[in-house]
Amino acid sequence: MKVWKFGGTSVGAPERMHSIANLINDGEKKIVVLSAVSGTTNTLVEISKLSLKKEFEAAKGKVQELQNKYLPFVENLYSTAEGKSKGSSILEEHFSLLKNHIKEGFSEVEEKLFLAQGELISTKLFTSYLQEIKMKAALLPALDFMKIDEENEPILSFTETELGKIIKQHSDIELFITQGYICRNSKGEVDNLQRGGSDFTATLIGAALYADEVQIWTDIDGMHNNDPRVVRRTYPIAEVSFDEAAELAYFGAKILHPTCIRPTQERKIPVRLLNTMAPKEKGTVITQKGSGNAFTAVAAKDGITAIKIKSTRMLNAYGFLRRVFEVFEKFKTSVDMITTSEVAVSLSVDNSKHLDAILTELSTFAIVEVDHDQTIVCVVGNFTAEQPGMAIKVFAALKEIPVRMISYGGSENNISVLIDSKYKNEALNAVNEGVFFAENISV
Ligand code: ASP
Ligand code: MG
Repeated sequence: MKVWKFGGTSVGAPERMHSIANLINDGEKKIVVLSAVSGTTNTLVEISKLSLKKEFEAAKGKVQELQNKYLPFVENLYSTAEGKSKGSSILEEHFSLLKNHIKEGFSEVEEKLFLAQGELISTKLFTSYLQEIKMKAALLPALDFMKIDEENEPILSFTETELGKIIKQHSDIELFITQGYICRNSKGEVDNLQRGGSDFTATLIGAALYADEVQIWTDIDGMHNNDPRVVRRTYPIAEVSFDEAAELAYFGAKILHPTCIRPTQERKIPVRLLNTMAPKEKGTVITQKGSGNAFTAVAAKDGITAIKIKSTRMLNAYGFLRRVFEVFEKFKTSVDMITTSEVAVSLSVDNSKHLDAILTELSTFAIVEVDHDQTIVCVVGNFTAEQPGMAIKVFAALKEIPVRMISYGGSENNISVLIDSKYKNEALNAVNEGVFFAENISV
């Protein structure tokens, strides 16, 4: 069994749905996870916000606008009168649900119900199209087998048993279509796996079924070795390990959310990233072992604040780091990079919500300096201690750039530097040339 997931742009128009119907029709049994049609979830968020503020007329206006956007689906997705009437009744059902709930008493429970409508609509439209063209497809309601606990953590064992049962009941079916993102919570209400959560649904299903592979279909050709928007020469990476992919996702590569890699990593199920617009391209595969290449990719994370904390007490003061970290713990602010010397510690945070309070508290026992608008440039690869010459390539490439912090040795997969964001583009291009096109640089 394979699990394929298509994002919002891949189902964003009737013609796009036609092409993915073609793609999935390859004779292999699979579960197809769909996002909402692109833009839909954002609009549902707006409608919910208006309803929570009791701006009911404005909310209803937006529902109508959204409904109008779906009219081309009825017209162009189906070719038979029967198909078109099925399409209309799907839209009617979901849009009247939205309209009927916009009234006094609208709460967060309704909000979550609203956010689920995008995936419910896209999967129903798509499944009825597959049935119109006589493909053996069945719709599996994600609300029957996707569940989160009190801590909002998905319950994989629940998916394993429930989905297993449902699939057994449909032994004649080749294509199962289901909703990404949506689930039930511990109270049994409709809930979700957070924005962008459809990838997570796909990896959870893949893990639950011990699938052969999870494929994530988007509109770019896999993971690039560097940010193509700012870097001159980039290329798609053929293979990357789970650990590397997690570092890249965390440090800015937008392609996959770090938490969504976990279920497949634990069960060693490869995840392949592919492009719906260029389905013959190889894309990127995330595996347990990765490519083993020295350098894999570079990612950057902006909006970082650097904090230097100098002990006001003498050298060798033990307990200093503990006091520092207790402050960050108290304000639930996680630290990304850290470097220490005997008398001072520098660290970086990406969440500056509680920064003022943190600084006030640190100042009671240390001298504190802050730099805003910093960027972490994170070079990902395989940097085992036995392998010499890796770090120097990175730093030689950066020889013209003022570096604020360096982190090396924390994990075998990551060399990170912190720089002022104004040097970001220059730094990314320099590292790119230095590590991937090494003949261009002299150490
Ligand atoms: N439709 C949801 C969102 O826009 C989930 C997803 O697309 O992954 O966040
Ligand atoms: Mg998405």
